[in-house]
Amino acid sequence: MDETTHSFDLKNQAQLWLGPAEHLADMAEQYLQKQFCKKKGCATCITCQKIRQRQHHAIVWLSPEKGYTLEQLDIIFETITLTVEEGQQFFFVLQKADCLTPATGNRLLKSIEEPPPGYYFLLLAHQYDAVLPTIRSRCAIRSLYTKSNSTIHADLMRFFTATHDHDPSEFLKTVDTSKINEQESLTLLDQILEYWLEQSIQLTTQQKSADQAQYKVKILINALLAPPMPGSSKLFWKNLFIQVVNPKSSSGK
Ligand SMILES: [Zn+2]
Repeated sequence: MDETTHSFDLKNQAQLWLGPAEHLADMAEQYLQKQFCKKKGCATCITCQKIRQRQHHAIVWLSPEKGYTLEQLDIIFETITLTVEEGQQFFFVLQKADCLTPATGNRLLKSIEEPPPGYYFLLLAHQYDAVLPTIRSRCAIRSLYTKSNSTIHADLMRFFTATHDHDPSEFLKTVDTSKINEQESLTLLDQILEYWLEQSIQLTTQQKSADQAQYKVKILINALLAPPMPGSSKLFWKNLFIQVVNPKSSSGK
C-alpha cells in the first residue's frame, strides 16, 4: 500500500497514524511534547508532564468506549468555533479512529478536511483497512508497519536488530563507508522499528526481553519524529546506535 509509506508530513493538520495502540499513544505524547515544550520535548518540564498526564489545556484526547458517539465529538465542534491565537496550536487526538462509525465519521469530515488555522487532528488507529475511506482520504497517513518487501541497508540494519552487543568500531566503520541518505534513513528506521514492534509483541512471555524491546521502540519512535537533516544521516545513525544498541558502550563495556 504505497499511500501509507512516507506521506508523513508532520505539518499536515489532519494526520492518521497506524500501529499498535500503546505505541501510538506513546508516539503522540512524544510528538506533542516536541510541539509544546520549549526544549522540544525534554520529558521533564511542567508542559511535558501535563501532556503525559493528558491535562494540557491545548490538547483534547478522545477515546471511544465501543464506538464513537455523536455527542462525544461535540467538544470538537464547540472548540473550533474559537479562534486560535496566531502562532498557537490546538490538538485533538482521536484514539481508536477505526471506531468512527459512518455517522460520526461523516460529521467529522469537514473539520478534518479544512481545520481552522491552528487546529490539528491526530487520528490513531490499529489498521488501515478498518478506518473509513472518507477519513483516510483526508489525512496524511503514517504507518508504523512498513510494507517494504526488500530490506535496504541490511549491513546497517543487522547492528540494530542483533541481541548481542556489537563492536562499536565495527559499526562506525560500516556507517562511514555507507552512502545512506535521509530518505533511505527513514526507510531503514521504519524497518528497524517494525522489527522491534514485532519483538515487543512476541516477547510478552519473557518480561525482560519485552521490556528491552519496548524501550527500543520508544527510542526509535523518538528518532522518527526527529529524522536526519540533509547531510546528517551518518551522524544520525551514530547517535542512534549509542542509544539503541550500546547504551553502556561509552563506558567501554
Ligand atoms: Zn519539556
